[in-house]
Amino acid sequence: MFQVHQIPALKDNYFWLIQPSSQSAHAYIVDPGDAEPVDNYLQRNNLQLKGILLTHHHHDHIDGAFSLSERHQLPIHGPKSNRIPQVTHFLKEGDQLSLGGLTATVLALPGHTLDHIAYFIEPIDGAPMIFSGDTIFAAGCGRLFDGTAELLHASLQKVAALPDNTLIYAAHEYTLSNINFALDVEPENKDLLARHIIETRKRESGLSTLPTYLALEKQTNPFLRSHLRNVRTYIQQKVTQPLNSDADFFASLRLIKDSF
Ligand SMILES: [Zn+2]
Repeated sequence: MFQVHQIPALKDNYFWLIQPSSQSAHAYIVDPGDAEPVDNYLQRNNLQLKGILLTHHHHDHIDGAFSLSERHQLPIHGPKSNRIPQVTHFLKEGDQLSLGGLTATVLALPGHTLDHIAYFIEPIDGAPMIFSGDTIFAAGCGRLFDGTAELLHASLQKVAALPDNTLIYAAHEYTLSNINFALDVEPENKDLLARHIIETRKRESGLSTLPTYLALEKQTNPFLRSHLRNVRTYIQQKVTQPLNSDADFFASLRLIKDSF
């Protein structure tokens, strides 16, 4: 059986460590923004690093990659981007990567950044998983840096088309502040109100709210719900120009959140 280990690091990042089989000590790290907590975790748990996977060029996702690569003599997999010169193996949409007994399929998810990719894995003995970097968060989504709202909207639609039981391994613990905004958008969403209580309790007990899963995001994440009438009414009340397409509503919702 595979296992995914969570390494909380930096201010509010999670580095995800994939161990493809409990019979083996081999493990693969996603988005190591710092090498030290990864090395500490490997040592404490007698795990051996076999590969480094990056989703996009932001420093809190890549800054530990080079020293881990040198220390463990490993390749670095990631998108082709002149902002990540450390990448030795370039990945693009549809590429497949063998991780011990698991296979990761690469999804291009531009929007938060233009170079953003994610890793989708369908284990035979568990729910599908996506390691989605800063594209989708619990009850929220990434900000726009060098990508556009239209691209991010299309990328989130791509995530939404994955199986409903897909576990989403996002890279930040932003859940409570995201829910705070989501409640402003949909104060009467019962699933969201219930989630607010559950996630608040988790955080009060020092627990992580991640991974989340796609069906719950479809019920509670406003960025997967900007096509719904009540969400559209909220958005249209906040902007002066008339909005028409799904992408228009999504783009305005992202802007409203930026200044919330
Ligand atoms: Zn980022």
